Amino acid sequence: MNIIDLDRSHVWHPFTQAQTAPDPIPIASAQGIRLYAEDGREFLDLISSWWVNIHGHAHPTIAAAIARQAHTLEQVIFAGFTHQPAAQLAHELVQRLPVGLTRVFFSDDGSTAVEVALKMALQYWRNHGETQRTRFLAFEGGYHGDTVGAMSAGKGCGFFDTYGSMLFEVGLLPFPETWDGDTAVAAKEQAALAQLDAYLADHGDTLAAVIMEPLVQGSAGMRMCRPEFLQALATRLRAAGILLIFDEVMTGFGRTGALFASLKAQVTPDIICLSKGLTAGFLPMSVTVASEAIYAAFLGESFDRALIHGHSFTANSLGCAAALASLQVFEDEQTLAKLPQIERWQRQGLATLAGHPLVQRVRVMGTIAAFDVVAADAGYTSAIGAQLKAFFHERGLLLRPLGNVVYVLPPYCVTEAELKQAYAVIASGLEQLVV
Ligand code: PMP
Repeated sequence: MNIIDLDRSHVWHPFTQAQTAPDPIPIASAQGIRLYAEDGREFLDLISSWWVNIHGHAHPTIAAAIARQAHTLEQVIFAGFTHQPAAQLAHELVQRLPVGLTRVFFSDDGSTAVEVALKMALQYWRNHGETQRTRFLAFEGGYHGDTVGAMSAGKGCGFFDTYGSMLFEVGLLPFPETWDGDTAVAAKEQAALAQLDAYLADHGDTLAAVIMEPLVQGSAGMRMCRPEFLQALATRLRAAGILLIFDEVMTGFGRTGALFASLKAQVTPDIICLSKGLTAGFLPMSVTVASEAIYAAFLGESFDRALIHGHSFTANSLGCAAALASLQVFEDEQTLAKLPQIERWQRQGLATLAGHPLVQRVRVMGTIAAFDVVAADAGYTSAIGAQLKAFFHERGLLLRPLGNVVYVLPPYCVTEAELKQAYAVIASGLEQLVV
């Protein structure tokens, strides 16, 4: 049987495909920004394969580091044992994260990094005797993964209504999104902060933590807010003594132009979640990094003070080797210094669409660019997304609009010519759109 028949017979893909959906595209190999399909087609991966392959595919430095590690120590239990790649990676991350985030807890993917953060926050208060602090606040539109705790924190994204009965209650604040030329941003921020104040007045003494995607909400459609808002939020939470969790699963490792969005916004959360770009897309792994004060609350002899979380593959040594090699690539290739150039190319590309009657809410931050397509059925289920995706695939672009939001999130090896090509195809996609 060929791949498609085998796949169609036995594979259950994420977001189950309708039987009428096009066949999945079988990819044989990938290099840099290019994906090579079994049937000879090529695709420019302009979304870094769900936002993970930050340096492009099959980067030789990272591939070689994994191969070396696989011949030395592929995996070892991480309870009561440690290894050089994990200890070294924890050290390297702490050197680069906002000052004060010092304790690295390893897990498997973005969702579990968030689960760990939620458990840390709840138990931090419990270990301090504040057992009433069980509430969480999140943001409308926020996505934090699809395990149960992460779905609860992300109930504001609206994907998980089916599973409502298994989720816990989470309060929601409006996300003061902004775009180029937006004049209402200050009022939106004030409204969000006023809601926070009201929530704190009513529930402040039962609130454990606020969780958010800092600066850019990814799955909500690359919705962006200003650093000033994060600063005002953090100031209020600090004054009220409430923990702040930043989910940097998408924004981490350079996406916003700085290594972390928290550095760009100059806000230090109490807990940060990292995955996706951590291993540059080579292996699933994540970390949840906490302040020393959080960690201290878990020390002690009694078992119920301990963080009860430990997976079979915790701190997988291949993942750690990949992450260390990715940090090495940042140094070798001076990656951070290249990011402003990508931002400029993104702006130039978007400028070619300026004035198009279907294009609105143009926004760019670092390597992330997005705009909304004017649509009667705006939102995640907008039919525009499927139409455009098919058009882009036919023309060799891997772009997956989020409903009526088109976004470009390339690996950092992208060239000016490749982005020009992408924006030319996007422009022609808009021309043929049936709205
Ligand atoms: N948080 C954010 C901000 C994300 O974008 C994602 C994935 N899109 C997750 C958490 C979940 O990560 P994963 O899919 O690796 O579990």
